Amino acid sequence: MSDDHSADSPALPTGVDRRSFDGRMRLSTRGGPVYGEPVDSDGWRAWDAGRSKLGAMLELGMDTGLVGGETVLYLGAASGTTVSHVADFAGATYAVEFAPRPVRDLVGVAEARDNLFPLLKDARDPDSYAHVVESGVDCLIMDVATRGQADVAVSNRQFLADDGRLLMAVKARSEDVTADPDEVFADVLSALESAYEIIETERLDRFHADHLGIVARPK
Ligand code: SAM
Repeated sequence: MSDDHSADSPALPTGVDRRSFDGRMRLSTRGGPVYGEPVDSDGWRAWDAGRSKLGAMLELGMDTGLVGGETVLYLGAASGTTVSHVADFAGATYAVEFAPRPVRDLVGVAEARDNLFPLLKDARDPDSYAHVVESGVDCLIMDVATRGQADVAVSNRQFLADDGRLLMAVKARSEDVTADPDEVFADVLSALESAYEIIETERLDRFHADHLGIVARPK
């Protein structure tokens, strides 16, 4: 067992495991490597929580509600580090990213994953991809380093099933580089309340400085 994983942590989704890499138990999914991570002889690749907020949320034992096989809308996909792991265990995975350069890499990652759909779109303009993304996705995952992260979550609520989950990593410095992160997080949580009920929050600082992990359900 990893030191990071307490006995009473929620079960990992089907398709996510803890495997030994160089004598250390690490989160892992099964798929082709994407960012230089090690792959074991059974085809499991290490999921680096230091490079992935969702990985950190799982490592810290947050109850994400993920079971494996769910449909996902992922906002802030960058070049695919985290969303590639998501696509390894989830069903249809729509990956929104507005910067063209990382999307070029993301398209390459998707070539090896037929359930991963990259979208070069702005997450602040959900109408621009509403014709592509199915409504009623099981999970909305957000890691957008932008001001107004709560507004993005609220405006993308329209895609989420009523019994779905929002899994969100808030970067304090994206909202205000000078403000106290705790105040930023309180403001974000308050702004989410128009559309979501907060289930769990946890600081991700052990892996990502001044980030808050949030699990919420739609109201
Ligand atoms: N989630 C990625 C991962 O773990 O592999 C890392 C994401 S990085 C921290 C944040 C990303 O959000 C950047 O790639 C940035 O271009 C993207 N982003 C910021 N604002 C955005 C917006 N309005 N729409 C789409 N993507 C956005």
